Amino acid sequence: MTGAYQTTEKTAGPWVDIDLNALCANYRMVCDAAPGAKIAAVVKCDAYGLGMEAVATTLAKSEHCDEFFVAYPEEGVALRAILKDAAPHATIYVFNGPLPQTMALFKSANLTPVLNSLEQAKKWAERMPGVAAALHADTGMNRLGAPAKDIQAIAHLSDLNITLLMSHLASPSLDESQTGNAKNEKQKNLFHAVAAHFPDAQKSLSASGGALMAPDYHFDLIRTGIALYGSSPFDKDDVRIKPVASLRAPIVQIRDLTPGETVGYGAAFSITRPSRIATVALGYGDGFPRIGWQKAKAAITGGIAPIAGRISMDLISLDITDIASSIQTGDIATFFGGEIRLFEAAATCDTIPYELLTGLGGRVDRRYL
Ligand SMILES: *Cc1c(COP(=O)(O)O)cnc(C)c1O
Repeated sequence: MTGAYQTTEKTAGPWVDIDLNALCANYRMVCDAAPGAKIAAVVKCDAYGLGMEAVATTLAKSEHCDEFFVAYPEEGVALRAILKDAAPHATIYVFNGPLPQTMALFKSANLTPVLNSLEQAKKWAERMPGVAAALHADTGMNRLGAPAKDIQAIAHLSDLNITLLMSHLASPSLDESQTGNAKNEKQKNLFHAVAAHFPDAQKSLSASGGALMAPDYHFDLIRTGIALYGSSPFDKDDVRIKPVASLRAPIVQIRDLTPGETVGYGAAFSITRPSRIATVALGYGDGFPRIGWQKAKAAITGGIAPIAGRISMDLISLDITDIASSIQTGDIATFFGGEIRLFEAAATCDTIPYELLTGLGGRVDRRYL
């Protein structure tokens, strides 16, 4: 597999291979898991670091996806331009609602705000009477969204046109009875109560997690992020989700060391047997978490190599002693994707797939397959 990658000037640094067919397969998997619902794509944070332009145009063209969510209005403006040809009529929702200073962006790019409070709803109705908006009703996460006590007042605002009512699960899970834990049940029941005030609006409670839960969590629309990008939304891996991103970096130097020597900053890794160490062009400056040095691994031709010593800004050393001696500079190490699941790589860095993907830095070339 890695043999297919040649070192060229372009591969002098790290890159991430992004499999757009796998992205589409994951989109369809979520469609199959929630057959009654529309599947919207959450493309905030540059599509979780994988590139909003490629992801959104692919989903619009190949899967006819025409509802998208971003977090910040500026992301919505960028997405509107991206979708100009592929989906000019797409609905672009903005989770973080309008502020006085961003109202003009909503108008100019035809963005649909997610209103998160009575105050925001009042202002929107005043400034943009009758213009479609979504409403986020908080059902117990206590992060963003209007509290239950304000829902009735919002429902009675004249000139307010709520076309989508949403809420967000705090801890989606597949454990117990598939209906998740008691918190999910409670949030769902409260969502039903709130929904009664907005009979004409589409309803959306679930992100990737809820999509894979029982059908009574699906409602009309699912806001899918991480499952599209190749990982389980739960605290366990889910092999139904295909890997989309593979993080790769070339080996830039190989050295043989003898017992008593050390590797890297702080001399934190001691050589205790004759060892071969390969240094690759990837570091915490590229978003690979420094904390991962004791548990993370990389796949190279012939095996899996543990990290040897502390991660530097632009370099990681791998212990390749136990792998075939034919490894050369220019060979490629893969930190996730393929043999190493993104979920597992994130766990070895004490984090979650969401953070590992969105943390990939600007030096990591994005390559689309
Ligand atoms: C980010 C986000 C999503 C997408 O969540 P995934 O777990 O990645 O599917 C959905 N809804 C809201 C409110 C979000 O902030």
